[in-house]
Amino acid sequence: MTARIDLTALGLEPPRTLFIDGAFAAAASRDSFASLDPSTEAELAPVARGGARDIDRAVAGAKAALRGPWREVTPAERGRLIHRLAEIVLARKEQFALIETLDVGKPLRESRGDVEGVAATLRYNGGAADKLEGATIPLGRDIIDFTLLEPVGVTAHIVPWNYPLGMLARSVAPALAAGCSCVVKPAEQSPLSAGLFAQCCIEAGIPPGVVNVVTGYGEEAGAALVAHPDVRAITFTGSVETGRLVYAGAARGLKPAVLELGGKNPLIILPDADLDRAVSDVLDGAFGNSGQVCSASSRLILHRSIHDAFLDRLADAAARLTVGPGMDDRDLGPLVSAEQHQRVAGYIAAGLRGGARLRFGGGRPADLPRGYFLMPTLLDQMEPANIAAREEIFGPVAVALTFDTVEEALGLANGLGYGLVAGVYGSDIGTALRLARDIEAGSVWINGWFIGGQQAPTGGIKDSGVGRERGLPGILNYLAIKNVGIRL
Ligand code: NAD
Repeated sequence: MTARIDLTALGLEPPRTLFIDGAFAAAASRDSFASLDPSTEAELAPVARGGARDIDRAVAGAKAALRGPWREVTPAERGRLIHRLAEIVLARKEQFALIETLDVGKPLRESRGDVEGVAATLRYNGGAADKLEGATIPLGRDIIDFTLLEPVGVTAHIVPWNYPLGMLARSVAPALAAGCSCVVKPAEQSPLSAGLFAQCCIEAGIPPGVVNVVTGYGEEAGAALVAHPDVRAITFTGSVETGRLVYAGAARGLKPAVLELGGKNPLIILPDADLDRAVSDVLDGAFGNSGQVCSASSRLILHRSIHDAFLDRLADAAARLTVGPGMDDRDLGPLVSAEQHQRVAGYIAAGLRGGARLRFGGGRPADLPRGYFLMPTLLDQMEPANIAAREEIFGPVAVALTFDTVEEALGLANGLGYGLVAGVYGSDIGTALRLARDIEAGSVWINGWFIGGQQAPTGGIKDSGVGRERGLPGILNYLAIKNVGIRL
């Protein structure tokens, strides 16, 4: 490891402590852990190692805010505060982008895009805050029956490292719109931006205690948050393995949980597809954010007739992608950590041992001996049973499988436990729509990838998750329906 980076010299003073009750605070243990820059392996900052006692404080603060000042804020005013928060986050776009790029490694333009996405999320949910209406229920002439939509209470938000701010805002914004108060547990690999976000909430006028952040390890701070009896709902975004643990903890406490988990997403290319469009989308879908994307197009299912032509064009285009430090704003930054780098390299090696052919990439760029860099990689001639074709790799690695009939393509697409997103490329809309109907996934995209926005619900089926985020369904996660009946 090299010397620590001087963040202040970069004009950054990201909070490295917990944010509880409207102020930064040290961890009760006084312990810390290091956040690293994956481009240089240098230490960025010591970060507070929160634990159960800090979670207790944060949840108590959130509960007090819910019973106190936050309850008095009207829905319309909540919406205005969330809109103001969007403006404050945007005004700090460069600061947030630098922090994310240093902490996670992603190219600066991607980090800037993430911050703009956070503002869009806040605006959508801010706009919805005063439009969350109950219903009147027709029970007969002598009864009036209606529903009240009430905030569920204190909500927990456990966030992964691939989009630290984006994944935080995706669930915190609707929770705020619904009138809940939140405790956020960022990932240990990317803890620096969450505290700054919480500080922006205070600047926007959101009362202290409504948004709290406890940095720390999953097994410590995360597990304590899941188990806390005053947490009334949990939103978890992360791996399938941890998702199962979180869901079991939620079941013990009888709390609703939204789980946004991993994917090994099939992208089917039919013989009549526009190959140039597919190549351009796969470059972004498989290699954007260095493939550390839950909805990456990581499993290419190619009709035999276009297999060679498609992969030749993809190889040519991938050869033009540049790899380098996030601050240099190349096409691909490093992977987030040494552990992730080893994991992805391990999958490439296992795939090759299993008989796959390396079409391009496969290792670190020769000119980057330091940092967790990996070239965009494609494994071809895969057996569907190959481990690299079955498991989420979460790196810049796509695998290619071949099919002859549409039924075969569907069988391959549905052949895994995952069910997050899928894509179909082809000109015959009937075939594409039949596949969209029959593919087991939370989202299916036709002739495009990463189609969606704040308004469109997203989430997985099967092992890829439980529940939906974004859109109005995303806000319902944070509302309890109370039924009131009156006999006249
Ligand atoms: P992870 O499961 O290792 O960690 C996610 C979060 O859970 C972290 O904050 C971690 O500290 C916490 N955690 C770990 N153990 C815990 C425990 N026992 N109790 C409570 N919390 C605990 O996932 P990751 O490696 O940070 O993220 C990558 C994964 O996230 C990939 O599988 C990816 O597909 C998935 N992901 C899914 C979506 C989606 O929308 N479906 C979005 C982004 C990422």
